[in-house]
Amino acid sequence: MIQDISPHKFDNSFKIQTPSKEDHVLGFQDKNALVRYTDTGIQCPLFKDLDLPLEGTYLFSIDHKAYFLVMEVPEQNGFSYCPLRPLTKESPNYFGFAYATGFHLYDWYRNRTFCGRCGTKLIPSTSERALVCPHCGVTEYPRIFPAVIIALTHKDKILLAQYPHMKKQVLLAGFVEIGETLEETVAREVYEEVGLNVKNIRYYKSQPWGIVSDVLAGFYCELDSEKEIRLDTNELQRAYWISRNELCYGKENLDGSLTSEMIYRFKIDAYK
Ligand SMILES: [Zn+2]
Repeated sequence: MIQDISPHKFDNSFKIQTPSKEDHVLGFQDKNALVRYTDTGIQCPLFKDLDLPLEGTYLFSIDHKAYFLVMEVPEQNGFSYCPLRPLTKESPNYFGFAYATGFHLYDWYRNRTFCGRCGTKLIPSTSERALVCPHCGVTEYPRIFPAVIIALTHKDKILLAQYPHMKKQVLLAGFVEIGETLEETVAREVYEEVGLNVKNIRYYKSQPWGIVSDVLAGFYCELDSEKEIRLDTNELQRAYWISRNELCYGKENLDGSLTSEMIYRFKIDAYK
C-alpha cells in the first residue's frame, strides 16, 4: 500500500529545522505537485535543483533526508506541476508517499491561515505540529478525516459499488460521524447506502490517504440476513454482489489503495 515504503523509513516526529541544499522541496499548486518525470520514474526536487532561498516548513524525513514544504515555487529546471494522484503509483514509491503526505499538510496549512474563533493570523507552534492563535490561544491541529472501507461478504460473494463520476468498482466507504465507533460507522454506512444489515465486523488494516486528508480503516463484515439491496441513489450509482469466480481481480489491480488490497484478498480467499 501507499505507506508501505520499507526498507525506507518515514519519520514524522516534530522538529524545527532549517533546510540545507541537499534537502527535498515539496511544492504544490492545488492538486498538482512539483516533480520531474525521468526514464526510471519520478524525481522530487532538492533545494540545490531550484533557484530558491533556503526557507520552508520542515514536514518529515525519509531515511534521514528532510522534506520541506515551500509555497508558490515557480516551475523551473524541468520540474513542473503534475497531477498528484498518479504520482502515488510511480517509482520510487517513497516519493509517492512523500507527495501524498506532504499534500495533506500543504492543504491544511493553506486552509488554516486565521483563527476560527477571533480571526487573528495563526502562527506555528514551537513544540508540536500545530498552529496557535497569539490573541485567544486556540490551537489548531492538522485535520484528519477518519473514514471506513467496508468489504461486505455473503458466502462466496462480495458487494462492489460504483460511486457517481467514478469508473472503478470499489467497496462501500464512508466518513465516521461524531459519537460513533468505527464498527458502528460500518453498520450505519452499509444500511444507509444499500439497506442491508451486517454482522461479524472485523478490522483489517488502516491507511493514511493524504490526498483527501483521510485516514482509512478497512473492515470485513458479513451479511446478517438475505435481503434485496436498497440503493441510496444520492450516494451510489450501482451496488451488486459478485462471486469470487466471476470477479476479475489480480495483482495488476493493486494500486496502492487499501480498497484494492481488500478486494484482492477476498479474490484469493485470504481475508478471513
Ligand atoms: Zn484567536
